[in-house]
Amino acid sequence: MEFREATPQERMRYYHEEWDPSDVPRFITDSIEEREFAFDHNGQGYNDRYNAFHNVHELETKMKTLNPYAVCASTAYYERPQQREGWTRAELVFDIDAKDQPVRSCDCEPGSICETCLEEGKELALTIMDTLRDDFAIRDMYMAYSGRGYHIHVLDENVLPLENRSAILEYVMGAVMPTDFQMMGGYARTWRRMLAVIISKMDEKDLSFLTSPVATSVIEHRPTILRNLEARKADFLNVPGVGKTSRDKFLERCMELNGQTVDGKVTIDTKRILRLPSTLHSKISMICMLVDDPETFDPLSKAVPRFVEER
Ligand SMILES: [Zn+2]
Repeated sequence: MEFREATPQERMRYYHEEWDPSDVPRFITDSIEEREFAFDHNGQGYNDRYNAFHNVHELETKMKTLNPYAVCASTAYYERPQQREGWTRAELVFDIDAKDQPVRSCDCEPGSICETCLEEGKELALTIMDTLRDDFAIRDMYMAYSGRGYHIHVLDENVLPLENRSAILEYVMGAVMPTDFQMMGGYARTWRRMLAVIISKMDEKDLSFLTSPVATSVIEHRPTILRNLEARKADFLNVPGVGKTSRDKFLERCMELNGQTVDGKVTIDTKRILRLPSTLHSKISMICMLVDDPETFDPLSKAVPRFVEER
């Protein structure tokens, strides 16, 4: 599929013929009066800020007048969203951008995406959601396709008021060494899950910090390493040619890479704006949308606007 920018005419077609206010997620419309909305009119950036709406019909009027290039809603809730004042709480969000992944098993150029890296982005989002469910007992969360990756929106009442989110981020990303990685559950399990995700995508170019024979051995024995990790074996990296120094270097690099798989600034910033599901990602002509069934969701069949099919 060709990811081409939408023309102003195509944007108008989308907002007048295809976009429906009922596609805006309930978790946004239920709190619409507390959120700030931001509009990018023509691809020059979100210069139209401080918008507030009483209901989705007011939003609809603005959408159909503007046919915007892009639309965001605040993850924060405010008493006075039109002044961005009176912060009360904010969604906990994770932004997984397929084009910015530090390790991808496809051959995409930096900044490009394909079916493979979008699928890998989804796998990562699902892994993060497993951790949030298992270790933080979070139930109220949503996955959205952002146009070039995935967003996770957590709306759990216990999480919304939290102002410092860096510890949650560090935990969920598996970016620090656990004291005992063989423990059955908790952080050790999260760390093993995240390690498995990154190891399964690596090829020799991602291991260029190791000597070439060591990198080759790691790739060659990857299935064994992943099996050992799953079985919680103490010496899971014990494969021919990989000594202690290489093992330490390898683990350190994997944790560093895992820390880069989400945009941490988005999670930590509790006054962020994030692309509004149902709207058009005009740069690539795809629809940002809520994902109902992550297991079967395929953006290349679900998130393509009609005008692209007819191009
Ligand atoms: Zn790709």
